[in-house]
Amino acid sequence: MPQSYFTASSQNFSSYGITNFGIPIPTTKCQATYIWIDGTGENLRSKTRILDEVPKCIEDYPLWNYDGSSTGQATGRFSDLFLKPVAEYPDPFLGCGNNRLVLCETYDAENNPTETNHRYHCNQIMEAIMDEKPMFGMEQEYLFLDMDLRPLGWPKDKLPPPQGPYYCGVGADRMYGREIVQAHANACLLAGLKLAGTNAEVTPAQWEFQIGICKGIEMGDQLWMARYLLHRVAERAGVVVTLDPKPEVTMGDWNGAGCHTNFSTSAMRHHGGLDVIKSAMKKLEPRHSDHLKLYDPNGGKDNLKRLSGKHETSSVDKFTWGIADRSCSVRIPRQVGTDGKGYLEDRRPSSNCDPYVVTAAIASAILLDKEN
Ligand code: ADP
Ligand code: MN
Ligand code: MN
Ligand code: MN
Ligand code: MN
Repeated sequence: MPQSYFTASSQNFSSYGITNFGIPIPTTKCQATYIWIDGTGENLRSKTRILDEVPKCIEDYPLWNYDGSSTGQATGRFSDLFLKPVAEYPDPFLGCGNNRLVLCETYDAENNPTETNHRYHCNQIMEAIMDEKPMFGMEQEYLFLDMDLRPLGWPKDKLPPPQGPYYCGVGADRMYGREIVQAHANACLLAGLKLAGTNAEVTPAQWEFQIGICKGIEMGDQLWMARYLLHRVAERAGVVVTLDPKPEVTMGDWNGAGCHTNFSTSAMRHHGGLDVIKSAMKKLEPRHSDHLKLYDPNGGKDNLKRLSGKHETSSVDKFTWGIADRSCSVRIPRQVGTDGKGYLEDRRPSSNCDPYVVTAAIASAILLDKEN
């Protein structure tokens, strides 16, 4: 078991080194790490293959297979599933250079998307609405855990002092894991992701990063890749990342974790946009309960623990919206109200949501749904 970040004698994250135990990174080959979403719809897997040279475009990466029976995606007899590369990024763990992180979709032997390949459907939605120039930004909240799965830095035998000083805080008595957060930000930028920012959140050891503004399918791709980088950076520090929106230990007076999803179309971003945003609320409202089922990977069950109407969340029973109101299902930011144009923020998605499912649900309800 790796030593925990905080009990390691050399507490400095940099002691883990960024150059792979001092072994130089080869420059003659391309190490391509293929990454995919497993059968939980929440966890990521990856494996690496060595290519003779860097493929010129994503289509030039070879298809690859994997054992779906070991990832909750197939039974033993039909265990071979396929990885189809869809997006590539320089690999910051291997000095960028020739090495790549390769995000993949998963397909079965008949070339059907697997059950948790939600990118396939999302891509169809995004292509159908391309003319509206849909843009997204997602705010990923998460919690660091120690190797014993207790929140990082929390006393082992009691609860930490109540929330209040932790949000955007400074100081060793309230900040847990900042070095990991910074290393993750660096990794995102080196990989070319559109990281918008990071902040410490309300619960101790809880943090947030934002990815955006992204166009269409790029939102899901980049958020999944940023999650992958976070797990990898934290892994080096012997720290676990959980996207559980409300882990058992935080069931008391502690904020849960969400994944606020900001959305705009070209019409919303231009003169008269506020009216377009308000009419979008009428499209979202009748879809409230359908959307809640889609906003976590377990049919809405995980998110139920979080959406209590307390701790900056809305109630699950009723769709609400408002300007600058953080207790609503959907918020119109203050500045958007003032400018009369901009974007909306859906505050309901759970931290462990699939961004492909969420962005497709929002975009199709607002732009494609003919029923309401
Ligand atoms: P807050 O915590 O106040 O809700 P953040 O600053 O954490 O807001 O996140 C705001 C997000 O909104 C960012 O990810 C940003 O990329 C995104 N965003 C800003 N403008 C737009 C827009 N016009 N369309 C879609 N997303 C946007
Ligand atoms: Mn094998
Ligand atoms: Mn935020
Ligand atoms: Mn937040
Ligand atoms: Mn927000």
